[in-house]
Amino acid sequence: MTTPRVNLLDHTLAELEEFYAGLEEPAFRARQTWKWMHQHGVSDFSEMTNLSKKLRQYLTDHCTIEAPEIVLEQPSEDGTRKWLLRLADQQCIEMVFIPERERGTLCVSSQVGCALDCTFCSTARQGFNRNLSLAEIIGQVWLANNQLRKSKDDIRPVTNVVMMGMGEPMANYNNVVNAMRIMLDDNAYGMSRRRVTLSTSGIVPAMYRLADDIEVALAVSLHAPNDELRNQLVPINKKYPIADLLDACRNYLKGKSQRERITFEYVMLAGVNDSLAQADELAALLEGLPCKVNLIPFNIFPGTKYTCSSRNAIFRFRDRMMSLGVNTIMRKTRGDDIDAACGQLAGQVNDRSRRELRFAKLEMEATL
Ligand code: SF4
Repeated sequence: MTTPRVNLLDHTLAELEEFYAGLEEPAFRARQTWKWMHQHGVSDFSEMTNLSKKLRQYLTDHCTIEAPEIVLEQPSEDGTRKWLLRLADQQCIEMVFIPERERGTLCVSSQVGCALDCTFCSTARQGFNRNLSLAEIIGQVWLANNQLRKSKDDIRPVTNVVMMGMGEPMANYNNVVNAMRIMLDDNAYGMSRRRVTLSTSGIVPAMYRLADDIEVALAVSLHAPNDELRNQLVPINKKYPIADLLDACRNYLKGKSQRERITFEYVMLAGVNDSLAQADELAALLEGLPCKVNLIPFNIFPGTKYTCSSRNAIFRFRDRMMSLGVNTIMRKTRGDDIDAACGQLAGQVNDRSRRELRFAKLEMEATL
């Protein structure tokens, strides 16, 4: 039996240094490899010219730098790109790149599926499969940068990351935090902490832990101005109700610069959470908390019971919030022509592969 290759993308810098120590290589060799891998996107060890020949040969024989594999790329007319990625166990996830004049934002997944069951979410419908490894999370940034470097279009590389793809990032805490540390590392992707955003539906204990562990921007999927409605839309609210969630937000901002803000995401669902009375309730709820509210037009997917609020309703809601002193914007919709709701594309593939597995199992049982 052959020993599987060691995927260097699955290491923090400290782990890589430890691995190199085991090879009797000094720590600076690990840092050199780290830069080749993350800064330059190199996966061929023979190109790492400042490493010794012996080390390069060892790495070629025993190690790999392996990100998820692209199965499908959907480019949009506005430059947005959506990639369907396959993992080693054939599960699929999604990653989306949104180029703008001043920045290029990559939306990264943290889990295959999600257990939190938000009722407006396409990813929730496939249930939870598993957490992504460190290599599968940071590998998305690595892969997107490499794809963009190869692109003939004049597109800037990834400057911002939002942990807002498939999954609840806080439920895969260690791998997500380690991946974000690599994003911030000057010898890797060198992003500023304002350009890395973690979005959570409100796993309160993990929010306190995050405040102590790493400084990144925090977004919270709020979607409702009271517990009664939020319990329906974001069921984790039954465990961590709004008052606790907002306390965790205040704690997150404690000791940080006055410019720091929490971003609250609010998906606009017609007739559910978009009335002026609900805008009043939301503004009152957020009073005194440094924040901005992002109104997100709902992205319809097959089988959903919700529809998106009209543009007028969204503008009315935004204007009311602004008049009550809450900084509120309507998120631009991007990639409309490719727009499957987040998780929909991967959901179809994962469902199909699960179905195929089930059929294969049934066939096997029938032949026994
Ligand atoms: S909205 Fe986020 S947390 Fe909720 S089910 Fe979807 S992926 Fe999970």
